[in-house]
Amino acid sequence: MGTKQFKAESKRLLDLMINSIYTNKEIFLRELISNASDAIDKLYYRSLTDKNISVDRSKLEIKIEVDKANRNLIIADNGCGMTEKELENNLGTIAKSGSLAFKQANELKEQKDDISIIGQFGVGFYSAFMVSDKVTVESKSVDSEQGYKWESSGAQGYTIEPCDKNETGTIITLHIKEDSEEEKYSEFLEDYKLQELIKKYSDYIRYPIKMGTETINSMIPIWKKEKSKVKKEEYNNFYTEKFNDFLPPLKVIHSSVEGQFSYNALLYIPSHLPYDYYSQDYEKGLQLYSNGVLIMDKCSDLLPDYLGFVKGLVDSQDLSLNISREMLQHDRQLKVIAKNIENKIRSELQNMLKNDRENYEKFFNTFGMQLKYGTYNNFGVDKDKIKDLLMFYSSTEKKLITLSEYVSRMKEGQNSIYYACGESIDKIDLLPQVDTVKDKGYEMLYLSASVDEFVVQTLQEYEGKKFANVCADSTDLETAEEKEELKKVNEENKSMFDFMKESINNEVDGIRLTHKLKNHPVCLTSEGELSVKMEKVINAMPNEQKVKAQTILEINAEHPIVEKLKKLYESNKDDLKDYTKILYAQARLIEGLPIENPTEISNLVCKFLP
Ligand code: ADP
Repeated sequence: MGTKQFKAESKRLLDLMINSIYTNKEIFLRELISNASDAIDKLYYRSLTDKNISVDRSKLEIKIEVDKANRNLIIADNGCGMTEKELENNLGTIAKSGSLAFKQANELKEQKDDISIIGQFGVGFYSAFMVSDKVTVESKSVDSEQGYKWESSGAQGYTIEPCDKNETGTIITLHIKEDSEEEKYSEFLEDYKLQELIKKYSDYIRYPIKMGTETINSMIPIWKKEKSKVKKEEYNNFYTEKFNDFLPPLKVIHSSVEGQFSYNALLYIPSHLPYDYYSQDYEKGLQLYSNGVLIMDKCSDLLPDYLGFVKGLVDSQDLSLNISREMLQHDRQLKVIAKNIENKIRSELQNMLKNDRENYEKFFNTFGMQLKYGTYNNFGVDKDKIKDLLMFYSSTEKKLITLSEYVSRMKEGQNSIYYACGESIDKIDLLPQVDTVKDKGYEMLYLSASVDEFVVQTLQEYEGKKFANVCADSTDLETAEEKEELKKVNEENKSMFDFMKESINNEVDGIRLTHKLKNHPVCLTSEGELSVKMEKVINAMPNEQKVKAQTILEINAEHPIVEKLKKLYESNKDDLKDYTKILYAQARLIEGLPIENPTEISNLVCKFLP
């Protein structure tokens, strides 16, 4: 049998394990027991759906044995086992979930060094090399007649050859390293130490972990324990290991519901965006257990899309064990549970917003986008459930606030929730229209994410207060007289504005004077449903029909430029044309829109520079 090489990435992880100065080496046992438990789960689940496989549930177990004389620690399970190919693929490559988290953590380089990452999540099987100088895996798959032996002494490579193994399952033999000055590896050959580790890390494993005839673990899954009996660390360890994250979760939600349908749920809100979240590979869903037995790994019906980032599991004794995916979709009980879970997560988030603002902001900065999508998704069916969880940046508070906070602070006589849109808070602050609203002392929401405006359009109002874009024409900041007067002036100058509009090829739908600009000469506003910002967002999407917002070029009625324009209209129409082009280009630039003819504009500006 020739020696095979590990894939490059795997070799790196392996090297790290072997040379690890990481102090928490003991986690290797948790990792191997967890793999053994998963393998038993798989076999048991297979037996439910495959008539050719029969399993005696009472015999399923994990055995830990020590052979002190030979410095061997043996972990054996009677789970599904691995075929020759699986040994090769699973143990020779780093494509596995836990290891993938390692890779990602590494790429993120959030951590200062590799070592500090290791203990934070399940790096899986390779962790065996932290304590052993040789690892042997003998396995017989439920799908194979022949057993195979995988063996490796570390980075040099590994061998695979047939072996005698009659029973389905896996036996892992660790040859424990010799003690060094810093490390007493021999500890891992002591019964008391191993028992301590099993109790500490693997107590909840649902199959007996036996040493001799004694069962060491309580076998009560963590989600069936009383909340008060579970330490934060246990919740977090379970999460990082089970859901392959390298950071602890932001929030743990543990609930037990008794009633028409009883269930336990253990839910986690991650503290960061999963690396594949916006890829096609990401599958939302919760693990589904029927009385402690895993029946589905990602049950997507249990989570609405807007909460797709939540991880966790649901265990219900009322679910039938061999229920199929298709049946599940129509299962009334599952629907009720899903509804409950949705409500539970929402109310927990609401509590967090009320009582732990700092954490909520962290949450919102990470997953707020998801809630925003959820608001306008499916024509806004979920908007009322989500609106109180949304946050926007406030012009006066200079931080994220909720809509309810905004409305509670509205000035007397203020009827609308004012907002302005732009690429960033700073850019919005520079918008000419924003100045005026600020001057009048109103609070404004700054919408800087591209989806924000869609959210506002979907909501339309909050507690009876309409949303008003200060850059569109729907604000009610002027008095009736001011409006009347402006209307008059605009009518008087109609022929001039028509001429100007023509000189920019009717690119805008109208030109008029306004009071809403304080210092700036011009701005571009939109009329109708579609704003300029939305035009940009929609047109940036692939395969969408191009759209165009209805725009108005507004000129500051108080600005000296108005007199100049009037004069030119009387005496020099050619210059008026050029002036208009420049003003229009300015307005577009302020809105962050491209201008079609920059060189022409540049030349025109120079023409009028003294
Ligand atoms: P992970 O458990 O995160 O997938 P590991 O490196 O721990 O990563 O394990 C890699 C794979 O090897 C597992 O996904 C599983 O398919 C297989 N495996 C490991 N241990 C066992 C075992 N005791 N029985 C059967 N398969 C196993």
